[in-house]
Amino acid sequence: GRSAPAKKHMLKLIILGDSGVGKTSLMNRYHSNKFTGQYKATIGADFLSKHVSITDPQTGAVRNVTLQIWDTAGQERFQSLGVAFYRGADAVALVYDVGDSKSFDNLENWRGEFLKQVGLDDKGASFPFVLLGNKIDRPESERRVPRERAEEWCERAGLGGEMGGPIPHFETSAKTAENVEGAFLELATLAVIHQ
Ligand code: GDP
Ligand code: MG
Repeated sequence: GRSAPAKKHMLKLIILGDSGVGKTSLMNRYHSNKFTGQYKATIGADFLSKHVSITDPQTGAVRNVTLQIWDTAGQERFQSLGVAFYRGADAVALVYDVGDSKSFDNLENWRGEFLKQVGLDDKGASFPFVLLGNKIDRPESERRVPRERAEEWCERAGLGGEMGGPIPHFETSAKTAENVEGAFLELATLAVIHQ
């Protein structure tokens, strides 16, 4: 048979979405289990690393990997992240704010920009994305993006992909930590499967 390709130990995950949706807060919650509530436009590092064990659902094998989680430093306001940010990404978390429809409408642009920058325009459905609707802790009366609307988007964007099915969707809160661990675990697992 065909010999298996060497598996990577380091996986690059990137977080994309409009400014203010909570990307940095989600990363900090997942990485250090912290939430400050303060707005910081920049962070010191290009990425944070986290060691995790991931079970490959296809083989049952447990893989110890280092996740490199890349966050933007505010440049996303100008939609000019540069190819170095995108290059070599193993999986992408797309984030919107459930109380902000514009951030939801912009998801298609973020997804398209990423695929263009890494030269996968025609293979979008095969690339591992996870969708996070953040700030679910806010009052339900302030919700602007119904869960069903997000799930429809995930169906459409995932159609025809080798991952076979819709993009996984999580409603999260970086503030209360709801679903944050689960969303990143799914992201890392898809990165492991896809490579
Ligand atoms: P980024 O620009 O996408 O990196 O967003 P930030 O992580 O800087 O967050 C923007 C603002 O939203 C900050 O004031 C955060 O404290 C707040 N925020 C982030 N996540 C949540 C959340 O899950 N719930 C609530 N209520 N506020 C959040
Ligand atoms: Mg940020």
